[in-house]
Amino acid sequence: MARRAAGTASATDADQAPAALPLAARLDQLGTESAFEVLARARELERQGRDVIHLEIGEPDFDTPAHIRAAATAALGEGWTHYGPAAGQPELREAIAADVARRRGVPVAPSQVIVTPGAKPVMFFTMLALVEPGDEVVYPDPGFPIYESMIRFAGGRPVPLVLREERAFAFDPDEFLALLSPRTRLIVLNTPHNPTGGSLDRAALGVVAAAAREREIAVLADEIYSRILYAGEHVSIYSLPGLAERTILLDGFSKTYAMTGWRLGYGVFPPALVPHVERLMVNSVSCTASFVQRAGLAALQGPQDAVAAMVAEFRRRRDLFVAGLNAIPGIRCLEPPGAFYAFPNVSALGLSSDALADRLLREYGLATLAGTAFGRAGEGYLRLSYANSLPNLEAALARLAAAAATLRA
Ligand code: PLP
Repeated sequence: MARRAAGTASATDADQAPAALPLAARLDQLGTESAFEVLARARELERQGRDVIHLEIGEPDFDTPAHIRAAATAALGEGWTHYGPAAGQPELREAIAADVARRRGVPVAPSQVIVTPGAKPVMFFTMLALVEPGDEVVYPDPGFPIYESMIRFAGGRPVPLVLREERAFAFDPDEFLALLSPRTRLIVLNTPHNPTGGSLDRAALGVVAAAAREREIAVLADEIYSRILYAGEHVSIYSLPGLAERTILLDGFSKTYAMTGWRLGYGVFPPALVPHVERLMVNSVSCTASFVQRAGLAALQGPQDAVAAMVAEFRRRRDLFVAGLNAIPGIRCLEPPGAFYAFPNVSALGLSSDALADRLLREYGLATLAGTAFGRAGEGYLRLSYANSLPNLEAALARLAAAAATLRA
């Protein structure tokens, strides 16, 4: 592919022409997360004096629990300010392995755990390590946009697996099986799920597990919302027979402990992958921040009541918010069993998701994400994060109701 020039260079000196930097063609393959773009637009409106309610951001609105913050402060005082091992501090890798083993009911060796700055690099590293040009990767649609972006960046062919409202945002097993081919190298699963809040049950995971075993396909199990589940037990494909040896388990601290800005996550990898992912760490970030890892240790080993309190509060908000959405003519919304997102069907309002999200922001001061920000199968839906206060959620419902009434008039 031909190189192209960067178009954003600007001359600060009138005598100097802007430099035309030749860019690598691979940059064209990179997608993005439009939550950050909508947030920037919303902030700009706020700067102009507009009042905006934020339902676009995918992060807990709570502060990181005090004992975790205290552990980080203490760690800074104790000198945890230097480089550490690329794969993470041994104590933290041990604590993560013990936590994963206990919660998933399978043995995990600390040597399989790689600590990363946020969980996102686990996606990046997995794609770079496993996907060759032309390999096919099955991923959920709608789904976290970085999956498709990373598949393309690695040269792979993204194969969307549609999640359907009529199946409570699970997939049709026959449709899943029909997507597999001799080129299928990796299957990405996410449960509980962003953006729908749905979760996959043991039967659905069993279908994927059987196919992965038979056809020797790897699985990337994104379980970043595993602790934010309101009904039933979280079932992990990692714990199904024969799957640990072919599954990369992605989890982290961002959502569970309200630590999004700390950048702390991890992957549990099959042993053969570990040295390669360690080298990807060395080549990219060297290691995860040392004092942040000490805070992570405190998060895992300290009291868990703050997590339970956050989940209980999310549940209260979900109940109110989803009931409020269903009371608006033209909107219908399933009750999501996990994460902190509602994914209402707004197709009866007669606008595309994108046009509706745009209008809600401009005319009603309501920042939301179009379902299509998560893939083509998101058309007809909005993603609304209810990680916001009850008064804000009530005000958001009133704005949505006003918009829906105008559109239906
Ligand atoms: N996976 C999913 C499904 C997410 O929604 C997110 C964040 O929004 C991540 C992974 C990334 O988590 P982190 O902030 O720890 O990188």
